[in-house]
Amino acid sequence: MTRTYLIKPVLDHHYPAITHGEGIYLYDSQGKQYIDGSSGAVTASIGHGVQEIIDAMAEQSKKVSFVYRSQFTTEAAEQLAKKISEIAPGNLNWSFFVNSGSEATETAMKIAIQYWQEKGMKTKSKIISRWMSYHGITMGALSMSGHIQRRERFELMLESYPSISAPYYYRDAGHRTITECDDFYAQQLEKEILRVGKDHIAAFIAEPMIGAAGGALTPSDEYFLKMKDVCDRYEILFIADEVMTGVGRTGKMFGMEHFNVIPDIMATGKGMSAGYTPIAAAVVSDKVMEPILNGSKIVMSGHTFSANPQSAATSLAVLNYIEKHNLVENSAVNGAYLKGKIRELAEESEIIGDVRGKGLFVGVEFVENKLTKKTFDRGLDIVNKIVEANFEEGLLVYPANAGEDGLTGDAIILAPPLTITKEEVDELVRKFAVALRNVEREVLG
Ligand code: PLP
Repeated sequence: MTRTYLIKPVLDHHYPAITHGEGIYLYDSQGKQYIDGSSGAVTASIGHGVQEIIDAMAEQSKKVSFVYRSQFTTEAAEQLAKKISEIAPGNLNWSFFVNSGSEATETAMKIAIQYWQEKGMKTKSKIISRWMSYHGITMGALSMSGHIQRRERFELMLESYPSISAPYYYRDAGHRTITECDDFYAQQLEKEILRVGKDHIAAFIAEPMIGAAGGALTPSDEYFLKMKDVCDRYEILFIADEVMTGVGRTGKMFGMEHFNVIPDIMATGKGMSAGYTPIAAAVVSDKVMEPILNGSKIVMSGHTFSANPQSAATSLAVLNYIEKHNLVENSAVNGAYLKGKIRELAEESEIIGDVRGKGLFVGVEFVENKLTKKTFDRGLDIVNKIVEANFEEGLLVYPANAGEDGLTGDAIILAPPLTITKEEVDELVRKFAVALRNVEREVLG
C-alpha cells in the first residue's frame, strides 16, 4: 500500500476513498455504493451533490470568499443571521458564527459567563452538564461533556464541572415511573446547584436528545419543563446544544421545540450547512444580549473564519433548500416510518433492547439479554461489530457508546439525509436487517 500522510481516526484501519456522492448515496473508488444512513456524523442533512447548493457556493466565490469580521460585515453573514433569527424559537435573535459544534458550545459557555459578569455577578462561571453528553472536543467543550472515552486522556486538564444524570428511561425506569425519573433528575439538578452554590453556576447545558453519548436518548414531554423550572428558580441560564438535533433532524426545526422550552442560548452546527462547508453558531436570546449591548458591547470570542461569507452563503442556501422542499416535515413523517420498521425488526431480534428517537434521529440500543438489559461483554465491542457489519452491506450507521463503564448502553444512530424517500427507507432497513442477522449469528452462535 502506498504510504499516507494523513492522520486518520484509527491509524491502522483501512478507510476506502470516496469519489463522489449523490442524494443519500456515497460511492468509493472501488465502485461500492453506500447508503449514508447516518448523514456522516449526522451532518449531510440534504444529501450529497445538490446542484442548488453548489451554484450558491460558486456564486459567493465569485463575489468574495473571505473578509475579516473585525474589519467588515457581508451580506451573506447578515442574511444568514436574519434567517436563523426567523427559524429559531422565541427571541433567539442573535448569531455568533464559528466553524464547528465544539466552538459553538464553547462560545455559548463564554457568552453565558459574560452575561453574568455584565450583570456584576462575576463568580457565576461553572456550567452544569449531564454525565452522558457530548458537547465537543476542545477543552472547554470537553469539560462540559460526559463522554468517558473522549475525556479520559485529558481528564487532568479539564475543568471539573458539576454533572448530573441524563434521562435514560430504558435503564432508569421500570422500578420507577417516568414521572418519578423526571422528578429525580430535577432534584439532582437542584441538589447539585445547592452543593456548588448558585452564585458559582452560570448555566445548565443539555442536548435536547442525547446523540454520541447515548444514541438518541429522548426525554419525556415534561423533563425539560422541570429542569428549566429549577434553572429559573436559581438564576441559571439554559443552553440547548442543538449541534446534532438542530435544523430539522428530529422532525422539528430545533429539537427543543418538542419539549416546549425555549433556551437562553442555543448551539447549532452540523446540519446547518449539511456538511457543504464548516459553519456553526451560538444563537443568543435578546435577554442574554441585553446586558452585553448595554455594557461592554463586545462578545469576547471569535475565530479567523468566524462569519466567513463563503460558509454563510452556503448555510443560507441549505436552510432555504430545507424550507423549500419541506424537509422538516419529511423528517417527521419518514422518521416515524423508519422507527416503526426498526421496531418491527426489534421484536424479532434477540439483541435489540430499545428503539428510540424522533424524526430521522433513531437510536437503537443492543443488549445481551433483553429481559435483564445486560450489556454485552466490553471485549466484544458490539457497537463496532454492528457498524462494520452494516458497512459491509453498504450502509453507514453512527456509533454512540460513551464509555467502558458497563452502565452506558451500546447504541447506534440511524440518521439518513432528511431528503430520504419511503422507498429509500425500505432499502436502508433491508440492509440493516441483513447486517443485524449477521451479527446475531456471530454473537449468539
Ligand atoms: N455538540 C453535539 C451535541 C455534538 O453531537 C457534537 C459533535 O458530534 C458537538 C457538539 C461537536 O461538534 P463538532 O464535532 O462540529 O466540533
